[in-house]
Amino acid sequence: MGRKLRVAYIDQAGDIGGGAEEALLDILRYMDRERIEPVLLHAERAEWLRDVEMAELRTRAVFPESDPVFEHSREALSSLGERLAGLWQSIGPVRKLRIALSAEDVDIVHTNSLKCHILGGLAARWLRKPLVWDVRDILEPGSARSLLVEVAHVTHPHIVAMSSAVAESLADAGCDTTVVLGARPMDKYVPLAPDEKLREAIGLKPGDKVLSVIARLTPWKGHQTLLDAFRRVLDDEPEARLLVIGDSGFWTDDYRDELKQQAEDLGCAEAVHWLGFREDIPQLLALTDVMVLPSKDEPFGIVLVEAMAAGKPVVATRTGGPLDIVEERVTGLLVEAGNDKQLADAILQLLGDPERAAAMGKAGRKRAEEHFDISRGLRQLYEVYDRVLEDK
Ligand code: UDP
Repeated sequence: MGRKLRVAYIDQAGDIGGGAEEALLDILRYMDRERIEPVLLHAERAEWLRDVEMAELRTRAVFPESDPVFEHSREALSSLGERLAGLWQSIGPVRKLRIALSAEDVDIVHTNSLKCHILGGLAARWLRKPLVWDVRDILEPGSARSLLVEVAHVTHPHIVAMSSAVAESLADAGCDTTVVLGARPMDKYVPLAPDEKLREAIGLKPGDKVLSVIARLTPWKGHQTLLDAFRRVLDDEPEARLLVIGDSGFWTDDYRDELKQQAEDLGCAEAVHWLGFREDIPQLLALTDVMVLPSKDEPFGIVLVEAMAAGKPVVATRTGGPLDIVEERVTGLLVEAGNDKQLADAILQLLGDPERAAAMGKAGRKRAEEHFDISRGLRQLYEVYDRVLEDK
């Protein structure tokens, strides 16, 4: 057998990381090591790597604890001054990446975040290495987006898009693009029996009809619409309870208070359980009757995959990612974003018909196994790697 494929994965997250780091870790954990030899280029203080145990993972800290180039916010890039400063500050990190990529003798460069697409992309271009951008966000029209497109024109990445909507959002970059839907290991995400102790601990009673929303508390996730809808649901289903799972970052604490106030004003505060950030999502899903994701716009929404894997019916909005994930009326229901009446109707349909809801949950599990298992995502990624090597 020839030499394994050496792929450099670049991610600059220094803090606890988010969905992008979670996804990258799954790629690294589950990839075929007979085939690929990964090296991870990361920040010096990569908190998200702290508890990670990965046999034989080569790692290299390439980004210092605080690097001015990462201080620029996406919004700030609109000023010419910021952009020039950013360009100037990029030279150091790009050179450093170039040295690391060269020393590791990599075959492919795979970048995992906006800033790494740019810095890693330029370093890869410098070395004439094939480049893969793993894109999971939809950028608003604006300067960060234009910069990304400009860099794409220079670096010619193969774009791996997490959903069709993500792919479309970068169509004008004119790059080869493959949609590789977000995935989870389906042997780890399985339907569980409800844990009665947990039910009690979070203040639920056995007969309660449980709705769960799993999402950061941030306005675009649509909690406000869900609270309005929940008020309507309670009128028909007084036993309904809403679990709000997820936290606000420290900068949006006010938003959580605002949401709590909204629940008070609507007179449904007693039926809403604010659980904050939880590590036991599968166990909470086991207590859930219907999982709801009310986002105004959603590039993907992996929580829908997690709910389907847990055998639960979902209600989501007819936007980006959910259109790829949910098979309408088979694994869940889709409603117009921002429409609390439609959202309430959909929830009530499922709460009122447990048999249909169970059938949807079952179909969801099947769909998750077929389309959203990490092994499938990895196979598609290997195909992308083969292609970029051929195109070289
Ligand atoms: N999550 C979690 N605990 C929480 C809230 C969220 O573990 O309290 C996880 C959730 O299971 C999912 C991820 O965070 O894996 C959120 O991913 P999603 O794509 O839905 O949202 P985003 O990446 O936009 O935050």
